[in-house]
Amino acid sequence: MARTRSRKRTRGLVVALVILIWLLTTAAIILLVDARTVRFYLYGDEDMTVEYGTDFRDPGVYAVTTGNLFGESERRLDVQTLGAVDSRRLGSYVLRYTVRFAFEDYSVERRVSVVDTTPPVIELRHVEGYEPSWMTGYAEEGYSAYDAVDGDLTGKVRRVKLDDRVQYTVTDSSGNTASIDRPLPNINYQPPRITLLGEQNTVMQASLWYQDPGAVVTDSLGRDLSAYLVTEGEVVPWFAGDYAITYSITSELGETISAVRNVTVVPVPAPETVTPTEKTIYLTFDDGPSPYTARLLDVLDRYGAKATFFVTSQDPRYYDEIGRAYRAGHAIGVHTSTHDYNKIYASEYAFFEDFFNMEEIIKQQTGEYTRLFRFPGGSSNTVSNFNPGIMSRLTRAMTDMGYRYFDWNVYSGDAGDTSKTTQIATNIKEGCAEHRVSIVLQHDIKDYSVAAVESVLEWGRANGYSFKALQLDSPGMHHGVNN
Ligand code: ZN
Repeated sequence: MARTRSRKRTRGLVVALVILIWLLTTAAIILLVDARTVRFYLYGDEDMTVEYGTDFRDPGVYAVTTGNLFGESERRLDVQTLGAVDSRRLGSYVLRYTVRFAFEDYSVERRVSVVDTTPPVIELRHVEGYEPSWMTGYAEEGYSAYDAVDGDLTGKVRRVKLDDRVQYTVTDSSGNTASIDRPLPNINYQPPRITLLGEQNTVMQASLWYQDPGAVVTDSLGRDLSAYLVTEGEVVPWFAGDYAITYSITSELGETISAVRNVTVVPVPAPETVTPTEKTIYLTFDDGPSPYTARLLDVLDRYGAKATFFVTSQDPRYYDEIGRAYRAGHAIGVHTSTHDYNKIYASEYAFFEDFFNMEEIIKQQTGEYTRLFRFPGGSSNTVSNFNPGIMSRLTRAMTDMGYRYFDWNVYSGDAGDTSKTTQIATNIKEGCAEHRVSIVLQHDIKDYSVAAVESVLEWGRANGYSFKALQLDSPGMHHGVNN
């Protein structure tokens, strides 16, 4: 009986064990076949784009388990979200959703781009009562540009003026472009009027100065636009000729109004040259006055001879001799004030300045200006070659201004060739003997040259020459200009 009970118990245990093993095996097989895992469901797109500055709300996600055998569970799993999106900063963001299930981590990602697709805003200003004018056309009334990302973009606005409108364009850092037009009102004002001051056609004699009287401009509303006047053209007052001065004003739209003044410079009238019919000697003395001038004047007086002095300002102690010579009936002409070739032939202005300084000294001594002169070095000089053409310009200008220059046809030799009085006297006599009319070059700063004069006067008187002072109508004995 005990044996039977024992056998029965053993069999029961075995059966239970077998059942247990079967159950476990079955459960394991079920789990393996089911292969439970996690499935995510994203609301919205996996890749999202968000406009800068707008509120971003994560559309969210839910997760459930799912398996081959039993399918999806109804129960939603607890999802954690990692990462955040800042819609105030451009860029790409990642949101990561994670779930822990059966000791394992499952995750899924969503990419979010914060972008700027909004162009800047351009605002145009309108000034109350503003009207464009002929002169200025349309003057900008003002504008500004603002962009949500870049802020103030006014400085980046490109402004293009077209015929009928102004176009404003600006692009932000994301490449969004805004463009706006401002239509322009028709500008159909009357053009301004240019009024010449002084005569429209002027005739003047050649002189040192020409002062242009100018012009004024007023628009149809009476506003003075003279500041915009452009003056072109030049009058060279010491050259006879026809000149035009043009005054013009140009509007912003490119329309030009102009007026012209004609200035005619005519030569100062000068007498025709009269060549003496009788045998004539014009003694001329350059570079004085000097300590020897007084003695020279005494000699000339004794013979009743007249001569010409081309004076300088080199020695103020003898300026009085200029007045004395003038009162004695001699001619006074300008030679030069400084006798500095490099200075006086540097420009017309330089020559005139030197020349008229000498004129002032002559006027102080004689009471009047002279119109007679001799170029330092003569009109044919080449010492002025450093300034090409200066002698051509000066001979023309001085003649146009009514001055008469004299060269010479008899050279005494006293400028470095000889210092012998007898030789100088011989040179002069021989030279004069060759011409019916002679202009003799001497220098009264050379005592040995002054000393030769008496002998020349004696010879001239004996040979029927008269000694005369140069006048405006005397022959110039011009050498011919070489520069
Ligand atoms: Zn000289």
